[in-house]
Amino acid sequence: LLGADGQLSQTIFAEMSALAVTSGAINLGQGFPDEDGPIEVLDAARKAISDGTNQYPPGNGLPVLRNAIAEHQQRFYGIYVDPDTEVLATAGATEALAATILALTSEGDEVITLEPFYDAYGAMINYARATHVTVPLRSPSFQPDHDDIRAAFSGRTRLIILNSPHNPTGSVLDRATLELIVELAHKHDALIVTDEVYEHITFGHEHIPVASLPGAFERTISISSGGKTFNTTGWKIGWITAPQPILQAIMAVKQYLTYVNGAPLQVGIATGLGLPDSYFTDLASGLARKRDTLGAGLRSAGFDVTTPQAGYFIIADAAPLGVTDAADFCRILPEISGVVGIPVTAFVHPANHGDYNTLIRFAYCKKPDVLDRAAAQLSGMK
Ligand code: PMP
Ligand code: GLN
Repeated sequence: LLGADGQLSQTIFAEMSALAVTSGAINLGQGFPDEDGPIEVLDAARKAISDGTNQYPPGNGLPVLRNAIAEHQQRFYGIYVDPDTEVLATAGATEALAATILALTSEGDEVITLEPFYDAYGAMINYARATHVTVPLRSPSFQPDHDDIRAAFSGRTRLIILNSPHNPTGSVLDRATLELIVELAHKHDALIVTDEVYEHITFGHEHIPVASLPGAFERTISISSGGKTFNTTGWKIGWITAPQPILQAIMAVKQYLTYVNGAPLQVGIATGLGLPDSYFTDLASGLARKRDTLGAGLRSAGFDVTTPQAGYFIIADAAPLGVTDAADFCRILPEISGVVGIPVTAFVHPANHGDYNTLIRFAYCKKPDVLDRAAAQLSGMK
């Protein structure tokens, strides 16, 4: 069984986080916030522990969480899901993806992703022995070309995995692109998996859940997680919303992966999903300021920077600094600048590295003073 890169090696996130620790550099590699989330969420989980919510929750998740997820889908997107039959709590979005891909694909099926792709997709597609087909997202817009999407579909396409807002490029899929994908999914009888973990972190660009489009819900598996929305990446509370027959198949796999997880943390995330609208808008505006701070620092250090529309990450092109291989450069970057980043090729098949060789992903989900320091250190590197 092979990982995303065809090897069973340590993930790039683990490698670079370890490098940050040993070198003492600022870790803008792995995407996790350095501040706690809302006190209401933390208190609800603490109270759930005190109140004795400490044993296995139901296989599909605590009712309080499933109800909160259903209400969230209705409130933000006007999507109705039945909390008892169309919602499944998972161990983060990661388990949701694993159970979905393992349940719905077999050897020989084709699975389409947008490349660069989040590394777990590639690994899971390999575990399922399915065939990975990619649609390129090219600098600087990182939007898929519609003809490339049409060309990726075939009679063997089983799934297309979308990720909007996108990790690592920070792009958001527009309505016309989503409509085309729904049309092609119908034509080829494929299912749509949509990873929306950054759904609340967009900067003036509307997040459109594909499941809200006409004719989409019946063939869409929507995945999200509390990690990014509530600064609780270590809690690993994720979820799936999907039509009942599809969800049942996924649950059949999920029960043997983890069975269940995080009962008191499920209560915390349920509380978070019910926070007022201002919480969600403040989350995005706070991250927009951080994006701008780091973007300015990277520009003054000489990188070419694409301003992300959403998410936690900014892509910086190191070509103007004379860099030809960002993977090598990222290994020395902690030493020369005291900052850790991730080469974008970690999200790209080796055959396609050419288009991405000089790009680096930096995370800006960090405190303002950390970003100021990182920006100053990167500028000083010149
Ligand atoms: N999908 C994407 C696009 C991600 O960036 C991440 C990392 N948060 C995940 C899935 C995994 O989410 P979780 O930590 O909830 O498993
Ligand atoms: N999603 C986060 C990132 O892209 C963390 C991933 C991980 O550690 N597996 O950095």
